Amino acid sequence: MIRIEHLSKTYSGKTEVAALKDISLHVQPGDIYGIIGMSGAGKSTLLRCISLLDRPSSGSIYLDGKDMNTISGKELQQLRKQLGVIFQGYNLLMQKTIRKNIAFPLELSKTPKDEIKRRVDELLEIVGLSDKAEAYPSQLSGGQRQRVAIARALASNPKVLLCDEPTSALDPLTTRSILELLRDINQKLGVTIIVITHELGVVRTLCQKVAVIDSGLIVEQGLTREVMDEPKHEITKLLISTAGGR
Ligand code: ADP
Repeated sequence: MIRIEHLSKTYSGKTEVAALKDISLHVQPGDIYGIIGMSGAGKSTLLRCISLLDRPSSGSIYLDGKDMNTISGKELQQLRKQLGVIFQGYNLLMQKTIRKNIAFPLELSKTPKDEIKRRVDELLEIVGLSDKAEAYPSQLSGGQRQRVAIARALASNPKVLLCDEPTSALDPLTTRSILELLRDINQKLGVTIIVITHELGVVRTLCQKVAVIDSGLIVEQGLTREVMDEPKHEITKLLISTAGGR
C-alpha cells in the first residue's frame, strides 16, 4: 500500500537539520500503523513527506506501486485523492457550517451538488454528527471537531488516512471514542490508517504495528504487541516506562 524506501529529509538554513535519515517502512493494506517518538524525533516531517506537503531530500515513497515523487500533474492529483489527512489543530473553516466544511474538498473537485449532499449525509452518519450538520465549528467540542475533520478527510474516499496526533488535545474519554471511530473506519470501510503520535496509549489501543522513531531514524518496528512485550531500544523502553499503565 505505502512503501517508503531510504527516505531522508534535510532542512537547509543557517544550520542543516537532518530531520529524517534513511527511513524504510512498509504499510500493508488494512494496517493501522503507529509511528511513535518523542518531540523533535521527525514524526511530523515524515507525515508531511507521505502526504506530499513536503518533498523528501532523497529516497522514495510508493503508493500502490507508484513513486509519488516522480509523478506530477493529473496523475499526482489522482494519487493525492487516495490520501486523507487529519491535522492536530483540526484545520476547520470557522465561518462555514459542518456540512460546508465536509463538502469543501468535494466542491473543489467539482463533484455534482446532489452527489455532495448524499456523500456529506453519509459521512455525517459515519462520524455520528448527523444532528450537527448546520452547526458551526465554534459550537462543537474538541472531540466533535475532530470527527468533522475525519469526515472531511474521508470525503473523497481515500484508501489511506494519515493522522497527525489525532487525540493530543483531547481528554481520555474523548480520546477513547475517537480511537474507536478510527478503528471502525478501518474495519468497516477498509481504510488503511497511519497514526503519528507521542502517546503510547494510542499505539497500544489502536495500532497492530508500530515504528519507533528517534532523531530521524527508525530504531525499532514490528507488531505492537511484540515491540511492547520485548522493547529492544532505549527510547522504546523510555516511552513505555513514562507512559506507565496507559
Ligand atoms: P516531531 O513531529 O517528531 O516533533 P518534527 O518532524 O517536527 O518532529 O521535527 C524534526 C526535526 O526537524 C526537529 O529538529 C525540527 O526542529 C526540525 N524541523 C522541522 N521542520 C523544520 C523546518 N521547516 N525547517 C527546519 N527544521 C525543521
